[in-house]
Amino acid sequence: MKSIITAVSGLTAAGLLWLFFRPPFGKNVVRLNTDQKVVALTYDDGPNPPYTERLLDVLAKHNVKATFFMIGNRIERHPETVHRVIAEGHQIGNHSYSHPLLGFLPPTYVQREIERTDQLLRQFGIVGEIVFRAPILTRFLPVAYVLAKGDRSHTSCNVWSWDWTTQNPHKITETVLKKTLSSTGAGSIIVLHDGKAENKNAVRLGTIEATDRIITALKRDGYRFVRLADVNSQS
Ligand SMILES: [Zn+2]
Repeated sequence: MKSIITAVSGLTAAGLLWLFFRPPFGKNVVRLNTDQKVVALTYDDGPNPPYTERLLDVLAKHNVKATFFMIGNRIERHPETVHRVIAEGHQIGNHSYSHPLLGFLPPTYVQREIERTDQLLRQFGIVGEIVFRAPILTRFLPVAYVLAKGDRSHTSCNVWSWDWTTQNPHKITETVLKKTLSSTGAGSIIVLHDGKAENKNAVRLGTIEATDRIITALKRDGYRFVRLADVNSQS
């Protein structure tokens, strides 16, 4: 009897953990819905001048459009950078207001973090759907619940650059190219960082140099670069 109780409570605990960390509802977008050689570059944790601007110069040089997941309190601090990102035709997404570990916070808090940044972005004239990515991709139960309630997806990725652990451009480029090309590449969503959540003045020269190399290499291989809004996404 005791072993049955132990087994049942073990299974219940595992089920609850699974429900919390991998909520089986709502939409989690990990790649674009295409079989074409198309990829989306996404940049988190900005705006972060002067690095976001230098990155914009590199993207402009290659005539590539990207998607920037911005943090609300940094949007307030650097509106001129946001204006430039919009003027140059890039897409902006919501990356919460203050970049907390959203997945471990109550739904009301999660909702407020998302709404505050939505409201800020609307003030820049952004209309239509605003894509959302949770800090550290913590689409845990409270986040999934709030998003599902608003009939909204979470935008994740299938290619991690690990550029939050290194600013060595060679390493970042190698990681991104290896993962993009090994997963057939079609529709890959690549995550890079023009800012750093825990350091508002983080130097991002490695990411900028890597972006130049990644675009050059993937273009040579026949890839096109799109914003998330340019292609339907799939879970
Ligand atoms: Zn982040």
